[in-house]
Order: sequence, then structure tokens, then C-alpha cells
Amino acid sequence: KTVLFKDRLIPKEEVSVSIDDRGYYFGDGVYDVFRIYNGRLYEQEAHLLRLERSAWEARIALPYPIREIGRKLEELLNEEKVLGGTLYVQITRGEAERIHHFPERAFPVLSAFCKSAERPLEKIRGGIRALLLPDLRWLRCDIKSLNMMPNVMAKQQAIDSGYDEAIFERNGIVTECTSSNLLIAKEGTLYTHPANEFILHGITRGVVIRLAAELGVPLLEQAFTVEQLMKADEVMVIGTMAEVTPVVQIDGKPVGAGQVGPLAQKLQAAFEATFDPDRTG
Ligand code: PLP
Repeated sequence: KTVLFKDRLIPKEEVSVSIDDRGYYFGDGVYDVFRIYNGRLYEQEAHLLRLERSAWEARIALPYPIREIGRKLEELLNEEKVLGGTLYVQITRGEAERIHHFPERAFPVLSAFCKSAERPLEKIRGGIRALLLPDLRWLRCDIKSLNMMPNVMAKQQAIDSGYDEAIFERNGIVTECTSSNLLIAKEGTLYTHPANEFILHGITRGVVIRLAAELGVPLLEQAFTVEQLMKADEVMVIGTMAEVTPVVQIDGKPVGAGQVGPLAQKLQAAFEATFDPDRTG
């Protein structure tokens, strides 16, 4: 298995991460996850721009211009020849003695690897069950930071309780999920949390907003409450791996009729048409 580490494509076994890497002891870094369909990076430009923005907001200087990082990721994918899966990339602030403020001489550390993965078709077709939990994250969820503790804890709590995913709520407002955004449908209109500092600005969310417009389905980027969530006709999780996954149960109560709804099916069909599902593992 080949990975990208610093500026080189090397066998995974040859990677040696420094104990001085700020990503290692502070989670001081940013990342992004691309979807691979048919051996190609899906929405490559949008992911690269988001990575560049995350780094900028975190005041991490990119080790190379974003276009060059894009070329390196393509080289990695060409080497790995993954047809369906994901490509993970992270940039940490660099290696230095453990002090809180930014070190003077640290060079950011870039690393990336590919992973083969099947589309989660059972969940996409049949829907998932979600658990509502308080959003304990910081107030810059728009930065794709390596600090994932609240997401990891919430996801595990959901699984421990027999659910598939956690839905975050902050002061009665529904924000998003642990690794996906959320969409609800009420009387034919779709609602999703506005792209501000309370959520990650999902690439899939952007694609779905575009698709809804093309389909003539009204969509509002407007915050909604827990009460509105529980009374929604349909609820969908949208993300790089989840694509458009219906939520059919929340906290043990059925969403709408408790089945995959018509808008979810419509969006799924439109989403699948943006790549070629027949050739993807
Ligand atoms: N929200 C969070 C917290 C995430 O971690 C992710 C994805 O990784 C998303 C939303 C969905 O974003 P995207 O569609 O770019 O995968």
C-alpha cells in the first residue's frame, strides 16, 4: 500500500510520524475526505478549495500551493488504483517541541492515503436510525479540524445505544451529524442549516442544493428546531460516504411514515446520475 507522506509517495510501512508532530499531540491540523467514484476524485475542485480554506482559517500555511497538492493526490490515486472508496488528506502545523503557540520553525506535514469502500447501499435504500444528542463541539465547525473528540464520542454513544448515527442539536437548533449534514422535508420543501460556523460546509450538501434547484424542489438554507425535525415528513443525512441516506427513525420514533420517502428517492436518483454507479464497487 502506497501513501503520500510529506512530499513523497512511499510504502505505508516506511512512514514514521514524529512524536513532535502537533497533529499527534494537539490535533493541530486540518483534513479533507474525497470520494472516489470510477477511479476518479469526485468534486475534486470543491474539496481542494475547502481544504485550502480550512488551512487558511486555522492559520496553517500550505506546504505547497493547493494545485500542487491536487496533483500529488492524483498521483497517489493513480498509484493506488482504487476504483471506489475514499481519499483522506491531512495537513498538520508541523513538528516542534510541545508549546501551545505556533512554533517559529515548523514545516506543515502533509499526508494522504486511499481506502477502498463499497457504497453503503443497504442504508441508502433502507434508511438508518438516529439518536439526538447535544452538540458539544466548538464554535468553528466550518473548519475541518483534526480535533474529532465530540464527533467520535457521539458516534460511539449512538452505536452503543443501538443507533446508526447521532444528530447534533445546539440550544434546540438542529445542526448536523457526526460526519454528515442534515436535510429535512416538510410539505414539499427541503430545509438545511445555513452554511455558517455551526456546521461543516459539506460538499455533498452543495451538490444536493444544486440538484434540488435542477429538480424544481424548493430548498431553504434555514435553521430548524428539534420540534420541526421530529415533525418532518422526511429526514436525510448527506455526506461524502452517506451520499443521500434517509433517516427513518429518531430516538425510537418513526420519521413521517417511518419509511424512505419520495423526496429522498428523487434526490438519490439525481445524485447517482452525477456519477456512474454501475462501474463503482
Ligand atoms: N459534517 C461533518 C461534521 C463532517 O465531518 C462531514 C464530512 O466529512 C460532513 C458534514 C459532510 O461533508 P461532505 O459532504 O463534504 O462529506
